[in-house]
Parts: sequence; C-alpha cells; structure tokens
Amino acid sequence: MLGAKHIGGKKGTRMPYCWPDDMVFTRLELHVEDRRCHTCGGPLTVCDHRHRRLFTLTGPVHVVCKLAHCPDRTCPTHSQTHSPEAETALAMPWWVLGWDVVCWLGHRRFARHWSVGQIRAELVDTYRIPLSDDAIGHYIQRYQQMVAARQHDPSRLAAAYADVEAVILSIDGLQPEKGHETLYVVREVTQKRVWFAEALVSSTTEEVQRLLAQAREWAERLAKPVRLWMSDKQAAFVRGIATEFPGVPHRYCANHFLRDVAKPVLAADSHAKVQMRRKVRGLRTIEREGGATQRLAALAAPVLETDEDVPVDLIQAAAPSPDVALAYCAAVRGILNDDHGGPLQPPGLRMAEALGEVQASLQRNLAAQKGGLRTTSSRG
Ligand SMILES: [Zn+2]
Repeated sequence: MLGAKHIGGKKGTRMPYCWPDDMVFTRLELHVEDRRCHTCGGPLTVCDHRHRRLFTLTGPVHVVCKLAHCPDRTCPTHSQTHSPEAETALAMPWWVLGWDVVCWLGHRRFARHWSVGQIRAELVDTYRIPLSDDAIGHYIQRYQQMVAARQHDPSRLAAAYADVEAVILSIDGLQPEKGHETLYVVREVTQKRVWFAEALVSSTTEEVQRLLAQAREWAERLAKPVRLWMSDKQAAFVRGIATEFPGVPHRYCANHFLRDVAKPVLAADSHAKVQMRRKVRGLRTIEREGGATQRLAALAAPVLETDEDVPVDLIQAAAPSPDVALAYCAAVRGILNDDHGGPLQPPGLRMAEALGEVQASLQRNLAAQKGGLRTTSSRG
C-alpha cells in the first residue's frame, strides 16, 4: 500500500512506490517534441532515459521519457537536457497518480462529498489502485493547490473581471480553534471569489497591513477601482484599510453586524424563557395524577399574563378526560424543551406563541362546554 511518505515532491519523500511484482504495465515512450536545437539548429540526440510508473484510470503505465540534448560540444546549450513536455500532461513530477486519477479524486471529494474511506474503496474496487488514507489525503491537498493556482492565474482572473466595473472586498479572520493561528481571508464579493488566504500567528497591524497591500496590488493589476471594504471593523482592519485604501468606504459586514446584535437579543430571549418556565409548573404532578385538570388550568392561565384568569372549574370541564390532560401536558413539555432557533427566530418568542396556542385551545374547549351547557340547560 502506498504510504504518504512515498509521494510528494519535498525533500526526502522521493522514495519510489513499491509496485507489486505481478503488476502489468502498459509501456509508453515519450519523445522530446521539438527535435532541433534552439541555439544552433542542429538535431538533438537522445542522451538518457527516465522511467516512471504511474496509476491511471485505465491501468498502470510505465512511462519512458527519452531525454535529449544537443550533441555539438561547441554549442552553448550542449549541457542542457530536454524532457518531453507530454510527461507533465500525464502527471506532475514525483506523482505516482496520473492527472486523471487526481481529478477523479478531487471531483469525488468536493463535488460528490465522498469520504476518504469511500474513495479508497472505490479506487481499489473499480480501478485496482491501492492507496492509503494518508496518500489520498495528500493528493486531495494537491488537487486543491492546483485548483487554487488555476483560480489565481492572472489571465483567468482578468477574464473573470472583464465585465466588472468595480470590486467590493472583505477581510475576515477565522480561528479554527482557540490559541491557534488565525486564517485571514480576503474575498471579492461581486464575483464571490476568495482572492487569497493566509494564516497569521499574530494579528498585529503590520501583518494585516501586508495582506491589505497585497489586495491593493491585485486590484491594481486588474485595473479595477475598489468601491467598498467590508469587515467586522476590528482595529487592525480599520487602520490598515484607511492607510492602503484612502477614501474607500469601509462598512460593517452585515453578517458580523447581525451576529453582534444577536448577542443581546438572545440574552433577552433567554431571560424571557426562564420567566415563562418559572410560571409553567406542575407538569409532573398533573401527569402523575392523570386528570388533575385544575393544575392544567393553573399551568396555562398565568403564562401569558392575561388579565382574566380562567376559572378553574371551567378548565376542569375543558379537559374532560385524563387522556386529554396528559396530551396537553406532553404538548406543553415539548414547547418548554424546544430550544432551537437563532436570533432571527428567537426560541422564547416561539415558546410564548406556542403556549398562547395551548391557552387558546383550552379556552375554545371551555367555550364549547359552556355553549353545550347553555343549550341543554336554560342558565343564562
Ligand atoms: Zn545546439
């Protein structure tokens, strides 16, 4: 099985993959495309061979690259060795997977959201490519690097911004875990692109300033004015943006604004929930006693702070059987335990509404009972 240490272009990681003895390879010979010397015009001759073994989706390949040089000792480029360009179209240097496999990996991981385990199993089952989880992880990382490099390609970036009048930029610091370095991300909002991201150990003004200067260079290279900056307005951003982008408005990011406003909203909501829970008591007693509907009435009436208390004897009639009383208890318990929802759907508000519905339901029962009484007896 291919371990992570067997791949990669870093120092000490160029160990060849241990290929099984019985693996059958398709031999592929590659020649230097331009067989004439660019300096003297003479024919190049083959001076060496480079052998590589690769996994491709169509099977293992043994690539033989015929390296060439100019045989004329008096030619200034005599000592240079030329490689076939087709080699990098098959795989990057030191990779043991061809581009087709790497693209397949990236697609399964990011478009289909497959896990590494799923990918590993599928590689073996369908393509007979045995890889370790580590190796798959490393190649997925490489796939991401390739995608990032492609998105940062200046000509591609210029094409993406050809029809854009002005750019809107945002900067944000993401800290995956407390005490870890913070990842600063500069995004362009109109095209929804991450321009670049960098992990900074310290978020000093100088460090942040460097990123902002880089953003200015990008905008200048695109020859697009910056219409607006958005951030959570921490001090380093405010100072840095004012310095690098004088005169450009710097707005509070709507998300951060909401998040900051959310804190007091949720605190108030949480307080309201405590108050409501305090008033809605005795569920367990009612459940234990079955049809103790007086308690149910006591439970529903004061929650909403209505001026008219519901008469206990009528509530007793409202939930005429123990089963109904228990059903009400279950509903109220569910309402009290429901803690879902953020600042835009405060759970306390929903709790108040739901308890109101319970009370209204009890009152409807009462009204029905009352009406029934009125028709059967002639009490006014
Ligand atoms: Zn030459």
